[in-house]
Amino acid sequence: MPTYELPELPYDYDALEPAIDQRIMELHHDKHHQGYVDGANSALDKLEEMRGSGDWADVRSVKRSLAFNLSGHVNHTVFWENMHPDGGGEPGGDLADAFDEHFGGFEGFKEDFSQAAKGVEGSGGGMLVYDHIADKPIVAAAENHQNQHPQGATPLLVCDVWEHAYYLQYENNRGEYVDNFWDVVNWDDVEQRYMAAQQADAIPQMTQ
Ligand code: MN
Repeated sequence: MPTYELPELPYDYDALEPAIDQRIMELHHDKHHQGYVDGANSALDKLEEMRGSGDWADVRSVKRSLAFNLSGHVNHTVFWENMHPDGGGEPGGDLADAFDEHFGGFEGFKEDFSQAAKGVEGSGGGMLVYDHIADKPIVAAAENHQNQHPQGATPLLVCDVWEHAYYLQYENNRGEYVDNFWDVVNWDDVEQRYMAAQQADAIPQMTQ
């Protein structure tokens, strides 16, 4: 059994139209995400072989491949669940309170996140993450899948801005794609991730 497996989409391929069209979703999920799953499993297999053979000549490239592909798998798994055909609107509950406290309101968060996503140089994604050191949500912008992503932060909301995420439909208009992304955000999912991350205490601080 491989360690990582491609999750099913939680809706049909065409369910997010008109924000994201069917063909993008088919290729993105079945080909791109599958590629990251396969790449992450392959990297783990190679590391096992290297431990067995003692030949570590390729260690640098294999570790790079593991970080890239596993981060891609994580980001896409969150990204699919972050969206829903009945999504959009504004969050409520504790997530809305967190946006008020840490971003000056939902619009402040939305602007921060949109600018991060639109401004990624090359391929990457806008990311709302829960920082376990400060115990609060912050906005990051990943390059590729893993670079410029804070260590020890749990992804809550991902907007993939690789060209494969929008180019078939939006061509070079990444900004329009990001603006329409908000119409399909599943705030219930984001809030559940926020609540779970708060409970995790993934990086306990050992104060003396
Ligand atoms: Mn992608």
